[in-house]
Amino acid sequence: MTTIRTGIGFDVHRLVEGRPCILGGVELPHPTGPDGHSDGDAVLHAVSDAVLGAAGLDDLGTRFPDTDEEWKGADSRDLLRASLAAVSEEGWRVGNVDVVIATEGPRIAPHRAEMRASVAALLGISTDCVNIKGKTLEGLGALAGGAGIAVQAACLIERD
Ligand code: MG
Repeated sequence: MTTIRTGIGFDVHRLVEGRPCILGGVELPHPTGPDGHSDGDAVLHAVSDAVLGAAGLDDLGTRFPDTDEEWKGADSRDLLRASLAAVSEEGWRVGNVDVVIATEGPRIAPHRAEMRASVAALLGISTDCVNIKGKTLEGLGALAGGAGIAVQAACLIERD
């Protein structure tokens, strides 16, 4: 019998000048980028948390503490690979991932296909199993004016 589980992930980063704008493992042409201990890739952080959460394996912050020098400037693709490895070790396969990016910073739509392909390749699943949606904030809230980015992710995993 196949068992399925779902997980959710959420992440927020401040967007600041002088940082590359890396989201979903793709560098977007934008004057600001997510601040953070790692490369600040809020998409991969939320996806990692959704994958880990589905398997009941804590979260990114517990596994890769931002107080740990080892992860300073970390490539978030490595964080997702490590998260996936932990989940795979327990016999789980990722079914699909759905992502919402809320920001008034970089425009998501022109880069969506590349980001989907990037996340799918990292997870070892087909591109149609990764969906990414960009949302603006209607000029409201603390993230408005391009000051930040918030990402939600949902993930389904399964094992026999
Ligand atoms: Mg983060």
